[in-house]
Amino acid sequence: MRAPAKINLHLGVGAPRPDGFHPLVTVYQAVGLYDDVTVEPSPGWTLGVSVPEWIDADAVPVTGANIVDRAARLLAAHHGVEAHAGVSVAKAIPVAGGMAGGSADAAAALVALDRLWELQTPDDDLLRLAAELGSDVPFALLGGTALGTGRGELVEPVPDPATWWWVVVPSTEGLSTPAVYRRFDELAPDAPDEPAGAGTLLQALESGDPEVLAGALHNDLEGPALDLRPDLADVLEEGEEAGALRGMLSGSGPTCLFLAESADAAREVAGALAARHEVVLVTHGPVAGAHVVTYG
Ligand code: ATP
Repeated sequence: MRAPAKINLHLGVGAPRPDGFHPLVTVYQAVGLYDDVTVEPSPGWTLGVSVPEWIDADAVPVTGANIVDRAARLLAAHHGVEAHAGVSVAKAIPVAGGMAGGSADAAAALVALDRLWELQTPDDDLLRLAAELGSDVPFALLGGTALGTGRGELVEPVPDPATWWWVVVPSTEGLSTPAVYRRFDELAPDAPDEPAGAGTLLQALESGDPEVLAGALHNDLEGPALDLRPDLADVLEEGEEAGALRGMLSGSGPTCLFLAESADAAREVAGALAARHEVVLVTHGPVAGAHVVTYG
């Protein structure tokens, strides 16, 4: 199974709800950075994780704390079966980077184990289990471009007819999503209950014009994340100086994203950024959600 990273083209955040979650109005887009999850029959449960050299292996838990373990236990409990499988996760999505890599792995694991264990879980049940695992997991199942509401777990596809080119600069150090939300609360104690709506962004997607999209991108977590990591503002500026239409943080950061005019423009921006950054990726969206790549 392969599952994509997400970016948030619009991320409106409201004041915390009584359950502690922040209400969101977000527009997710799945982009072409993927983690792969492979499953095979096994008499017990094993989980292995491999990472490319630019990802810190220690940042990914390999014991029961990995979200893939949780996904397996949840699916097995839902059906009353044993969680027996040999699972390996090959990461290529930045860890703790605001691109929902863990959520992608959870979505891939749900679908892969559902097939391995021959459970035929209905899509609605899978979406419900996904939402229990994390706010971004339902979107990783869906892919494409979608409006997310609630705490981000209620997803519905939206029209996005163009292909958008992005340059991605991962940070060597992760940023904790809860820490960014805490700083949001400190900086915006009077945040409205209703998050900022996504109307402008949705119209920009339909225009197919990268300059229009650049003007409509919106991220309420960017201020608090930059407050915690002021160095990232310099990276955003660098990318814009190199020709990006707009630089922004991916979700709660610290990954920096740059919207480019075209594939060629993205390569140019990436080339310029590569002089100062160890890892610079070029990708595009929207792409499909979690999907099988090899049938065994
Ligand atoms: P989000 O934006 O959804 O918070 P993120 O991209 O910022 O996600 P993830 O890469 O999903 O962050 O990881 C968040 C934390 O989850 C990591 O710090 C790590 O300790 C933990 N984690 C658990 N399982 C995984 C996994 N399979 N891959 C990556 N991180 C995992």
